[in-house]
Amino acid sequence: MKIQDLKEKVLRGGNITPTETLFLATQPKKDELYEAAHEITLHMTNRRMEFCSIINARSGRCPEDCKWCAQSIHHHTTAAQYDLLDKNECLRQARLHEAQGISRFSLVISGRRPSQRLLERICDTARYLRQHSSIRLCASLGLVDEAGMKALYNAGITRYHCNLETAPSIFSTLCTTHTQQNKIETLYAARRAGLEVCSGGIIGMGETMRQRIELAFKLKELDIKSVPLNVLSPIPGTPLEHQPLLSEEELLTTIALFRFILPLADLRFAGGRKRFSADIQRKAMYIGINAAITGDLLTTTGSTSAEDQRLALKAGYESDDTQIDLLHLWHPYTSTSHPLPVYKVQKAEGATLTLSSGQQLIDGMSSWWCAIHGYNRPELNLAANRQITQMSHVMFGGLTHEPAIDLARLLLPLVPPKLQKIFYADSGSVSIEVALKMAIQYWQAKSLSCSDQARLARKQNFVTIRNGYHGDTWNAMSVCDPITGMHSLFGSALPVRFFAHQPRSRYGEAWDEHDIDELRMIIEANADTLAALILEPIVQGAGGMWFYHPNYLVEAAKLCRKYGLLLIFDEIATGFGRTGRLFAWEHAGVQPDIMCIGKALTGGYLTMAAVLTSNEVADTISAYTPGVFMHGPTFMGNPLACAIACASIRLLLSPEYDWERKVQYIEHQLKEELAPAKRLPQVNDVRVLGAIGVIEMKHNINMAQMQRRFVEEGIWVRPFGKLAYIMPPYIITPDELSRLTHGLIKVVSEAI
Ligand SMILES: *Cc1c(COP(=O)(O)O)cnc(C)c1O
Repeated sequence: MKIQDLKEKVLRGGNITPTETLFLATQPKKDELYEAAHEITLHMTNRRMEFCSIINARSGRCPEDCKWCAQSIHHHTTAAQYDLLDKNECLRQARLHEAQGISRFSLVISGRRPSQRLLERICDTARYLRQHSSIRLCASLGLVDEAGMKALYNAGITRYHCNLETAPSIFSTLCTTHTQQNKIETLYAARRAGLEVCSGGIIGMGETMRQRIELAFKLKELDIKSVPLNVLSPIPGTPLEHQPLLSEEELLTTIALFRFILPLADLRFAGGRKRFSADIQRKAMYIGINAAITGDLLTTTGSTSAEDQRLALKAGYESDDTQIDLLHLWHPYTSTSHPLPVYKVQKAEGATLTLSSGQQLIDGMSSWWCAIHGYNRPELNLAANRQITQMSHVMFGGLTHEPAIDLARLLLPLVPPKLQKIFYADSGSVSIEVALKMAIQYWQAKSLSCSDQARLARKQNFVTIRNGYHGDTWNAMSVCDPITGMHSLFGSALPVRFFAHQPRSRYGEAWDEHDIDELRMIIEANADTLAALILEPIVQGAGGMWFYHPNYLVEAAKLCRKYGLLLIFDEIATGFGRTGRLFAWEHAGVQPDIMCIGKALTGGYLTMAAVLTSNEVADTISAYTPGVFMHGPTFMGNPLACAIACASIRLLLSPEYDWERKVQYIEHQLKEELAPAKRLPQVNDVRVLGAIGVIEMKHNINMAQMQRRFVEEGIWVRPFGKLAYIMPPYIITPDELSRLTHGLIKVVSEAI
């Protein structure tokens, strides 16, 4: 047996046995053991030290006889005695800690179990804290049953703390008034009520290393993720007052062993550590401590959080300046109580994002299809600077300006010739709303123009294909895929649309003429109520990154013509060269009646979108009551966004830039370098079109874990569902792209 072999075993996700741990404990080469534990910590845990704090909300007069504790009525100590602190005092401390970058705050009270009245007062305090601060709340109140836990959970407490304290085999020698089993039942009750749990112990109470290992395995058996490690501070007046102090080596060895046994846990430095030198504490963090209680620790004096944060930095942890973000900002599709980690970007240039840690990432996302020219592009900066000194914004009602006119001049030759009218909108989703409204207003107006009035006025619904994505606003949501989208969540609040299955014929392969059958059936049966067919041409984006056959669009357009539906193309993601054509409709040569563009329109600088439509649609809407199109956002035609969009399009179309060659080059390299992924057992499909490369996995991805691995590999890729995909900025160099594809394949091949 060797330390290195056991380390490898843990790093591969294996578990070591108690016998193996004992072997580690008896190794004379401590430094090798510490180094091995450090490697496990480095690979298996977050690189940021997690800090929490506690408030001794009620102190002293505890009826229990725990031998280590200053608060027991059985011992004669000088511990403070007071009743539950006022909630404003709790709030004051919570805010203080929050401002120091501490993410959790635990209400701790002495005693065996809180009375019903006390529990209610604690819940009241917790609710008060949740109303006035965002620090996450924990509680440590002794033995509490499931009903009590439920009350705590409902009051906003998210984690319950109850230490096992020591090895099961010796617990009864240290405490006789309750059992360790009572504590375990409390932890179970907390879990059943929806709370996370936190449980560890005290070392240095006379137990052997074997008994410490026994405690660690018990914690592992209970699947504890947050493990406080206290070092006994023998307190005068307690039975353990003469207990010899734990040695530095015993402390560090215990931490190393705990890290081997509990590789993923937060090993949390708790009470009693301040008697060790700063150097030893730093070493403990290096070996395995990756969390700490900071601030005032119960009755022994704790360390200030600034000191702890400095130690953590010295031990190799990253500084964490995202506290306000973590506690107060809502990111796309995230929970605020269990947010995914976020990485703070300092600056971005070309295809490189530089994090505040100094780390550089190659960008594989173009910030969700937008930043096609990369970041900090001089031509776009210049346009922004120039426009800002003229005017950033004026209203578009009754006023116009050169940037809006210039943008129209540039756009018209690029879009389907039939599309002659442009409506500027603020974002992709809003442009979809506008397009849908246009279609309905068109049929309303049309009904007034003919004898068939009643029939045409009923054309108010939409048909689309599954796995589509059209944005997050109300009606945009209604045409997103009903399963992967948000339909079930919003239920009957969402209008009900018609869905045909997604085209199965792949882009670049044979066309199956039955692919269109379901759409034909739906349209035939419901033409009277359908205003339009909306879809993303050729490439379905956020609904599944699927590339389908152009014939589908040809056939769909025929159906629309035959049955009187408008055809809406959502080119928000596909526009401006991403698929190898300037716009994806060109793959099929089919002109829609309405088309939405956005995302890359401003080269990723500002939010802006546009809805383009035909004279037929615009004239009809304008000819009948109310005679105007009913939409007009505040920031419509924003001059700054228009000016940057003009610069972005000019750059894209300039001969030296040669976007077509750039995208072809990326496509070629993606095809070549992603091909090996097809042979990976985890991979279901690999597909490439234009500057889009997709690896579809067999199983859902663990996003937090995979994203972290991408960052470690120096690339920025944000997977979702079963998909790990890249769509880099067009200006990416072959070297940078290789780093992206290799990192992507490496991380994907590690997935289980
Ligand atoms: C992103 C996207 C939208 C929504 O655009 P937002 O600017 O995020 O509102 C709509 N349709 C498609 C195809 C998209 O990719």
